[in-house]
Amino acid sequence: EPDPTLRPEARPEDVDRALRPQQLGDFIGQAEARANLRVFIQSARQRGEAMDHTLFHGPPGLGKTTLAQIMARELGVNFRMTSGPVLAKAGDLAAILTNLEARDVLFIDEIHRLNPVVEEVLYPALEDFELDLVIGEGPAARTVRIELQPFTLVGATTRLGLLTTPLRDRFGIPTRLNFYTIDELHEIVSRNAVKLGVPADDAGAREIARRARGTPRIAGRLLRRVVDFAVVDGDGHITRELADGALTRLGVDNLGLDGADRRYLKLIAENYSGGPVGIETISAALSESRDALEEVIEPYLLQQGLIQRTPRGRMLAQKAWAHLGLPAPRAPGQ
Ligand code: ADP
Repeated sequence: EPDPTLRPEARPEDVDRALRPQQLGDFIGQAEARANLRVFIQSARQRGEAMDHTLFHGPPGLGKTTLAQIMARELGVNFRMTSGPVLAKAGDLAAILTNLEARDVLFIDEIHRLNPVVEEVLYPALEDFELDLVIGEGPAARTVRIELQPFTLVGATTRLGLLTTPLRDRFGIPTRLNFYTIDELHEIVSRNAVKLGVPADDAGAREIARRARGTPRIAGRLLRRVVDFAVVDGDGHITRELADGALTRLGVDNLGLDGADRRYLKLIAENYSGGPVGIETISAALSESRDALEEVIEPYLLQQGLIQRTPRGRMLAQKAWAHLGLPAPRAPGQ
């Protein structure tokens, strides 16, 4: 079984906190998003207004929460955090909104999972900083309007397509986060290794970066494990050989794929001759939710060119056959 803490969506807070960049200047990668945010933050500060509502979308572990926290810090305001599934009732959201101070950042993670009733309450809050609350029940029920302090909503989602159009339209600053390059992850790993007191040489840091699935959260996790091996088996610093040995023992292969990724690829190769096969079929065969496959496993496999999405389902690409060490079936006409 793959180590569940190596999955990009797992987020034990204690693991992440120490390595989180605190300022925009410490945040590596996402150059375009960073450059734009810098302008919007500075403009909001100079005008003394709440920054526009911002939506971060992209796969888990790419820095959505981190950027939201950095925004609050650079704006010099409080950071409040909640998530779509946690806000069950309209009153839950109302309680948070009425407690915000002027220009605060409210971060709602997994905003695509907001209850529709809660989402309705959010619209006037976003647009006019007003809350329409229904007090009482039945014929005695009445609506009261509550004025809110101007605030900035920062929404995060791994599934932009699941956001309702009216909600999407209320974000003035939609920002897509992309997988990181190996060079960017290399830089992140090197800095974090120093923070952890176990420096990595160039090739050691690069080995971890190469196998981190384009994701800083995974780079952080892998680094922690390699640090353990460096301390116990090595001489307290990270070389390529040590990193390679540790990652291989953890089941992370040379493309950075773990057991779950390889199970996905092998299923399509061995049971469906490389596809196309529908996502529901894959989900049932692997006992993984469709959401987990689409949000966590597939984005990196697609980005790496290991699989393709076709109208008839998922297909293995040539590179996946080679990676699995299996002969690819001959394409028709060859
Ligand atoms: P998301 O909200 O997109 O799932 P997070 O913001 O929680 O991702 O980031 C996951 C982890 O990766 C955090 O521990 C954070 O420290 C680290 N991280 C994310 N982006 C960067 C970055 N650009 N530079 C350094 N570390 C980063």
